[in-house]
Amino acid sequence: MIVGRLAPTPSGRLHLGNVCAFAAAWLSARADGGRLLLRIEDVDVTRARPEVEQSLRDDLAWLGLTADEEVARQSSRDYAPALARLAPRLYRCQCTRAMREQPLPAGAGCQGHCVDRGHTDGAIRFRLDAGPMTFVDRRWGPQRTDPRTFGDPILVRRDGLVSYNLAVVADDVADGVTDVVRGSDLLEYTAVQIQLWQALGAPPPRWLHAPLVLGADGKKLSKSHGSAHVGAMRDAGATPADVWRVVLPWLGIPGASSLAEALPRWDPAAGPRGPITLPR
Ligand code: GLU
Repeated sequence: MIVGRLAPTPSGRLHLGNVCAFAAAWLSARADGGRLLLRIEDVDVTRARPEVEQSLRDDLAWLGLTADEEVARQSSRDYAPALARLAPRLYRCQCTRAMREQPLPAGAGCQGHCVDRGHTDGAIRFRLDAGPMTFVDRRWGPQRTDPRTFGDPILVRRDGLVSYNLAVVADDVADGVTDVVRGSDLLEYTAVQIQLWQALGAPPPRWLHAPLVLGADGKKLSKSHGSAHVGAMRDAGATPADVWRVVLPWLGIPGASSLAEALPRWDPAAGPRGPITLPR
């Protein structure tokens, strides 16, 4: 059974890039008769905002991006069991951000600084295995990346905050997710997450990375791109069909004005890889 998820982070309002990734997740799960979960990714409590979460829910409902079940939000979860399972690969790192960002020999991560020092406090990092890894993305085809170019991921920050990397993988494993669909800004990083899946003893999911959507200025969508937000389009009188006629061509389904109409035409490998740059 395919299990997909919509995993919004309530730190910013829903924009067209989120809609594209969520539509791909919705279509992918529905096309294969799977279940779709909703999980609020508020692990970074310093960035999560309740009023933003409500607007995300409203926008998702307005667009018909509905899930079958809502699972526990990240801020209410316990990540100690996942950390215990990963323990043989964890070490404490006392490097400052500046030290971490210094160029190290290719793929060195933090090795040489902290990995063998047995520090008892500091950030908790996960020791990556060496070598390039391959995986298949259902849109981008076979991928080969060396995860160590990213350095060993921090799973728990020095101040105790659990990181995105630990939370997203531990939750997907706990929730039985088989189908990860998200924006292609995370395509290369997938190799790092596959090592976390494997270390947690779970078979990695299917991967699908939807086109990234950029503002007319070529930058990643953010608060400053007001008109690319679903709420702003609604306020300006747009209907859900208007939004779908913009977004669905990015998923290889031009001319469709609803998810129901798009579903029989869904092909995960079809359409542009992106990035899509919005017109002025
Ligand atoms: N919460 C993440 C986001 O908003 C998506 C989760 C994932 O990595 O798949 O981009």
